Amino acid sequence: MHHFIDVILPIPLQKLFTYSITSAEASFLKKGMRVAVPFGKSKIYTGLVYNIHNNAPTVYEAKEIQQILDETPIVNGIQLNLWEWISKYYMCTMGDVMRAALPSAFILESETVVTKNLVKRIDESVLKDDEFLIYEALHHQSSLKIHDISNILDKKNVLPVIKRLIEKGAVSVEEEVYEKYKPKLVRYVKLHANFSSEKALQDLLEKMSRAPKQREVIMTLFSISATTKKPVKVSDLVKESGGSSQIIKTLVEKEILEEYHIQTDRVQYEGEDNEVSKHLNEYQETALKEVKESFKINNVTLLHGVTSSGKTEIYVKLIEDVIQSGKQVLYLLPEIALTTQLVNRLQNYFGDQVAIFHSKYSVHERVEVWNNVLDNSSKAKIVLGARSSIFLPFNNLGLIIVDEEHEQSFKQFDPAPRYHARDTAVVLAAFHKAKTLLGSATPSLESYYNAKQNKYALVELTHRYNNVLMPDIELVDIKDKHKRKRMKGHFSDRLIEEIIEVLEEGKQIILFQNRRGFSPIVECNTCGHSPQCPNCDVSLTYHRYRNQLRCHYCGYNMSMPQTCMACGSPDLDSKGFGTEQIEEEAKLLFPDAKVARMDLDTTRGKYGYEKIITALEQQEIDILVGTQMLTKGLDFRHVKLVGIMNADNMLNFPDFRAHERSFQLMVQVSGRAGRTQERGKVLIQTYNPYHNILQQVSTNNYTDMYNEQMNDRFNFKYPPVYKQIKITLKHKDYNRVEEASIWYAKSLRQFFGAAVLGPESPPISRIRNQFHKNILVKIPKKQSLSKTKEAIIKINNSFLSIKDYRSVRVILNVDNF
Ligand code: ADP
Ligand code: ZN
Ligand code: ZN
Repeated sequence: MHHFIDVILPIPLQKLFTYSITSAEASFLKKGMRVAVPFGKSKIYTGLVYNIHNNAPTVYEAKEIQQILDETPIVNGIQLNLWEWISKYYMCTMGDVMRAALPSAFILESETVVTKNLVKRIDESVLKDDEFLIYEALHHQSSLKIHDISNILDKKNVLPVIKRLIEKGAVSVEEEVYEKYKPKLVRYVKLHANFSSEKALQDLLEKMSRAPKQREVIMTLFSISATTKKPVKVSDLVKESGGSSQIIKTLVEKEILEEYHIQTDRVQYEGEDNEVSKHLNEYQETALKEVKESFKINNVTLLHGVTSSGKTEIYVKLIEDVIQSGKQVLYLLPEIALTTQLVNRLQNYFGDQVAIFHSKYSVHERVEVWNNVLDNSSKAKIVLGARSSIFLPFNNLGLIIVDEEHEQSFKQFDPAPRYHARDTAVVLAAFHKAKTLLGSATPSLESYYNAKQNKYALVELTHRYNNVLMPDIELVDIKDKHKRKRMKGHFSDRLIEEIIEVLEEGKQIILFQNRRGFSPIVECNTCGHSPQCPNCDVSLTYHRYRNQLRCHYCGYNMSMPQTCMACGSPDLDSKGFGTEQIEEEAKLLFPDAKVARMDLDTTRGKYGYEKIITALEQQEIDILVGTQMLTKGLDFRHVKLVGIMNADNMLNFPDFRAHERSFQLMVQVSGRAGRTQERGKVLIQTYNPYHNILQQVSTNNYTDMYNEQMNDRFNFKYPPVYKQIKITLKHKDYNRVEEASIWYAKSLRQFFGAAVLGPESPPISRIRNQFHKNILVKIPKKQSLSKTKEAIIKINNSFLSIKDYRSVRVILNVDNF
């Protein structure tokens, strides 16, 4: 009987690929193990075993696998079920999911390595110049990779040169698979096995009396092992014995000591003993009880609790129960880097049972967390992570908490899989028969709608902890202020007055501006020209700090021109404003205050964000200017005033969720003010103080906002009333993409009629030299989503079979909001 496996390859193939295996391999291999397999002419990939069977593929001859890479599965059955769900629901391949799900260190790299042929001596005079360069380089280095060779020759396509070198017998080529992850090793020592007998040890110590330093090291080794009863680190031994690492090395060479390594975790919690969790107040107690009750009937509960109502303390109680019962907890956060404070809070309660999974962590650190979760280790009882942590190998989940569930960063936009971590978490929990708790002060309309439809349970918490008052919100009409000349730069007189008062009290201020950079657009006052990105359909953004113009879409940059590039006039003006400009103005207006800025530009690097947060906590900053980042669940004792510099650019954003998002953003930023007994103040500057959303923000009226927005969604057929799939086509030739998108939309209309919108050019229609066209398919609740997707896939396949359209990239985005 023949044996075969179907494997998932980390590339976007529509189908799984089948390989043939021996019967010995068949009895060893299990679903979820990795194998190295050949693919195409010369590539080697890491594949994940999905299926083991006896059916030969019909259309191609199955190749043999090259190597088995694991002893036991690294991915479990529930994960594979989740991958499959993601691939179906979000219309992507299993390979796409695999790439997103596994730490990159698990996906072995295949790189061609060129080495000198040592067997044959060749006459160098037969080599052409470029061949000789490579051949000579191999005198100095034992092997070269393809990209090294490209660098040496300064050209891309080097395969022909290599091919000629092989034909001349000068070099050979091998395909090398290697693993990137190297666990950090700590050196330990113990007494060599030679001295395990009493007698041998006695003799040794006698001999040692002539080498007192070495003897001291040995004696210290004994005493450390006796007291700690743990393996002894070389570093500890050096320190304790006062000896040198040279002495230890000598002892190892003499085979008196033996050196060995134990893999240790890179990420270690070094805190004090754990705190006991807080006693809940009556409102929290009631909410906790309601959540627990709801879990008896519902799988998903939405906890809608105003900012600072103490939701986190409720989560802590639930987590305690779940880990007590021996199960794992996943605590999802929008971007974990942004919530150091929460990490600390949870570590205070749960110590090193908390594992953190985080995009700023290194590959090594991620692999460690992965393995701890896989082993159900006590170090990963609670995983605190950003969206990709839903892919960790949980085997015993009891609860998933999705904190700040309304946050947009739970959705992955690019590349595929374009999944939403909150919605995927609900599915994951169901696979584990676990519960999901969604929490927010400003729930997304879709979650609240699900609660209203009784799909989710709803628990509300309307009191702030300690009865701290909701901030006092004042709307400032800057149109009027401009007319009456009451503005200094972007600061109204009201804002200036309030800032001065708060500074005098020694309290802190946060100024929120929805844009980074100094001023998004530079415009010539003479001819009106503004410099554009050569690759994208956008104006370049001025960054004062570097005196540069930069594109926020592709990273293109140039130094700020002295004169207009179109007409040569030196009269350049900046339109719009960003965080950098607010920071500048604040420094001028309040010269004695310490002003800092927090945005993507100032928080790069692993600890960039933490540094600013700490400075604010330690009151080294008086005024902090920042973007969205400021809204993420931070808890500052001394912030008394929050200023929103301009509410209108959020409200006017061309997106059906702009109003919902503005509400969420403003309520969340306001929540940063006055989290202690003293009442906080929020000033919102706007050209349109009668805007409904601003009224709803100023009265913290979520219900009104919800009802009004839902009405719009209903009338204009938007989510959550309708489902939505966005199809984007991209090509560098405008006519090609236009023609292709018209074909595509027409085919969709044959199935779905008027529910298809477009094709349309998006507001920024060219990015990285690719023209974009969007088509939107709206799907009523009663229309089958899976049938709709089947139809789209059919159309997509016919599309791809048209020769002219083959080079057009198609992106399917389910729930594209
Ligand atoms: P939320 O997550 O709803 O915004 P938090 O959980 O951050 O609210 O609570 C706000 C503040 O109140 C925090 O500083 C927290 O430590 C404090 N707090 C909340 N509940 C309690 C409690 N039961 N006992 C003592 N302090 C509490
Ligand atoms: Zn000009
Ligand atoms: Zn660009």
